[in-house]
Amino acid sequence: MLNKNVSKLLNEQVNKEMFSAYLYLDMAHYYINKGMEGFANWFKVQAKEEMDHAMLFIQYLQNNGFEVELEAIAKPSKTYGNHRVPLEEALKHEEFVTASINAIYEEAMKTHEFKTQEFLHWFIKEQVEEEKNATDLILAYDLHNPNGLFALDGKLRTREYKAPSLELD
Ligand code: MG
Repeated sequence: MLNKNVSKLLNEQVNKEMFSAYLYLDMAHYYINKGMEGFANWFKVQAKEEMDHAMLFIQYLQNNGFEVELEAIAKPSKTYGNHRVPLEEALKHEEFVTASINAIYEEAMKTHEFKTQEFLHWFIKEQVEEEKNATDLILAYDLHNPNGLFALDGKLRTREYKAPSLELD
């Protein structure tokens, strides 16, 4: 059995990860409409990773006998004033997700949910990478802006999806 508060937070995290996928798809669409296929590809790969994260939280909850409840996914309501804004918003969003995962970990510590602490270690590490990737993209954008953006877009076309290293049976 999982602690009630911890399982509630984990269930909410499923929605946050699914929303992340929605948000990044929306950002991908922004770039598609601007003819920036590489940036769009970067965000589409990111969206797939977020769906993986949601599935991992679902699997973990189910493995521990919790009945997952799927909530409505909010509509991404962002309008982006220029090409840099989605990148800034993506970093802000990852910081929000990090804080959310940290809050679950804190509750797991308080309630002596050791197995959930162990499960969350992968996500805590993953968030370091997510924030770094988002930061690196902003730095690359600034380095290439304005005349090198075409070249950077070409480079971003090569980002490939990889399945998460965490696997749950
Ligand atoms: Mg995520």
